[in-house]
Amino acid sequence: MKILVTGGLGYIGSHTSVELMHQKYEIILVDNLCNSNEKVLENIKKITQVMPQFYKIDLTDKVALEKIFKENTLDVVIHFAGLKAVGESVKKPIKYYTNNLISTLNLLEMMQKYHVKKLVFSSSATVYGNPGNPKYTESMGRGQTVNPYGSIKSMIEQILEDLYASDNRWCIAILRYFNPIGAHESGLLGETPNGIPNNLMPYIMQVASGKRKFLNIFGNDYPTKDGTGVRDFIHVVDVAKGHVKALEKIKKEGHGIYTYNLGNGIGYSVMDLVNTFERVNGVKIPYKITARREGDLAEYFADPTKAKEELHWETEKTIEDMCRDSWNYEKNN
Ligand code: NAD
Ligand code: UDP
Repeated sequence: MKILVTGGLGYIGSHTSVELMHQKYEIILVDNLCNSNEKVLENIKKITQVMPQFYKIDLTDKVALEKIFKENTLDVVIHFAGLKAVGESVKKPIKYYTNNLISTLNLLEMMQKYHVKKLVFSSSATVYGNPGNPKYTESMGRGQTVNPYGSIKSMIEQILEDLYASDNRWCIAILRYFNPIGAHESGLLGETPNGIPNNLMPYIMQVASGKRKFLNIFGNDYPTKDGTGVRDFIHVVDVAKGHVKALEKIKKEGHGIYTYNLGNGIGYSVMDLVNTFERVNGVKIPYKITARREGDLAEYFADPTKAKEELHWETEKTIEDMCRDSWNYEKNN
């Protein structure tokens, strides 16, 4: 079985590639390296002893993309490629709509043309909008998104539903990730954001390594257990394994469209993460409480029951693992 992994050198794509290779799947990676680099390929090889085939191609370039479909007989596509900085999507919506939508449309067009009708798509908990209940269940459906990044994820989910309605030979898994953090335990794969990190764990790591003096905690007056925001942090290796399970599901079903939350089902607060990081790694994280960040919700976490029942997938890693592996990667790099 040959699998095309788009965005395969990125944070979640690289971890998923390793898990697929551990299960002996043959993978082909495509990435334009706009948020990754070729060293990741060598590190995947160091972990798996196999160098995967790689195309440096931008998915918005349909002619270049078609080359992959002409040169290979593919069975499945796992589509990670896309820009993911929420704040930047607000400032540069056209860049985001162009890259993330056109890439996906080109990919779907090629899949249709070359009769590759099995897809796993990276969606996000952001598509729920603000449903009122902090425990997000797939049956809630999509809500009102609050930034271009989220709107695009929601649009792509709709596009996939329309596609399936038009031709029910497609078999599609939509995976809604909560907050992936952590890194590969080898210290060879992880997340290296460009510039000032937006997300909590990358920021904590830059404080831990002395790149930044302190963490800004965005609000401690939320109606949560300690007043700081609550999220469902999940180890990236658990997320990666969720893709292997989703792949097995679509192989087995043959057709259909299936949506799953990939989360722990546990809400951890910002303070929980800071305290755990300090305890596990013996590193102090100085912080200041600042104003709430615009657009942030107080609390949300996944109901992971559907993935557990239908994919037989459950998280295995703890918040301690997430903190230890993130710091191990940061120190190595
Ligand atoms: P990432 O930026 O590390 O990986 C994405 C990869 O896609 C990068 O290597 C980048 O170079 C590549 N890419 C971007 N545009 C491309 C294009 N036009 N052509 C070819 N390659 C392109 O991001 P990630 O954290 O691994 O996220 C993967 C997917 O999961 C994204 O779709 C993201 O929106 C989604 N997601 C991520 C999170 C998260 O917290 N990391 C949460 C929910 C959903
Ligand atoms: N957060 C914070 N300081 C930061 C970055 C994030 O206090 O420098 C908080 C943020 O307000 C939210 C939580 O950490 O409550 C998770 O934020 P992140 O950006 O990592 O994920 P998302 O907002 O997408 O869930």
